[in-house]
Amino acid sequence: MTKILAIANQKGGVGKTTTAVNLAAALAERGQRVLLADLDPQGNATMGAGIEKRTALPTVYQILLNQVSVREARMRSAPGRFDVIPANRELAGAEIDLVNLEQRDLRLKVALAQVAEDYDFVLMDCPPTLNLLTVNAFAAAQSVLIPMQCEYYALEGLTDLVATIKKVKQRLNPAIQIEGLLRVMFDPRSTLAQQVSDQIKQHFGDKVYNTVIPRNVRLAEAPSHGLPVLAYDRQCKGAKAYMELAEETLRRTGLAGGENPHG
Ligand code: ADP
Ligand code: MG
Repeated sequence: MTKILAIANQKGGVGKTTTAVNLAAALAERGQRVLLADLDPQGNATMGAGIEKRTALPTVYQILLNQVSVREARMRSAPGRFDVIPANRELAGAEIDLVNLEQRDLRLKVALAQVAEDYDFVLMDCPPTLNLLTVNAFAAAQSVLIPMQCEYYALEGLTDLVATIKKVKQRLNPAIQIEGLLRVMFDPRSTLAQQVSDQIKQHFGDKVYNTVIPRNVRLAEAPSHGLPVLAYDRQCKGAKAYMELAEETLRRTGLAGGENPHG
């Protein structure tokens, strides 16, 4: 069955897009068929996958308006070896354009259902707000992967996110779960980071991924070349961490073990 994951945290700059692009590439490297849906008008996941957002058309915007199907909109990330539903600034108007339309929360879910058999994983890179785009992602998702920096206010920020997931669970998607909390941009030398990391583990237990993504400048450089880190510098710490995250994701999903199931 296709595993559909929303990557979300309403804080900006916490590593959502970096995680979406690099987990997509790492899962593809492990032979998984992956679709990455960009749901942020900033189009960073699109660019990070090596696709020019300015000329991308159609995008997820036309999918949400029921003007095109996923098959018509999806593009290929050559360096990432996964498919992408691109996004760009046009998506910023979606909230308003959708407001009076029927089933506006379920548009993405319905569209993705048509291509489910083409993929082992669908990853959705959410915007840094709990808006209609995020709700569309949560309605379509089986679970939510939450990247977080181990900072002082990290746990506080999670309250709203968890509340939104609960609301979606009651109203739209009873099956939705928290897939896991991923500690990113981690600096093991920082006492504060260690303390917050311990708090997160106390609070969320085995929902916290064992994999930790370190702060690594190669992860920040790769998108400016339109490359996932695996295609930019596969030996760097960041690349290795995202490969480890892919392994852990496969293990948690019960898909680990086989090498390259699709070739
Ligand atoms: P979000 O999508 O949550 O806004 P991004 O993934 O775009 O966050 O990350 C924000 C910034 O931090 C980007 O410039 C990105 O390149 C950088 N970054 C993300 N993860 C790391 C990391 N592990 N190490 C170093 N820089 C990172
Ligand atoms: Mg982002």
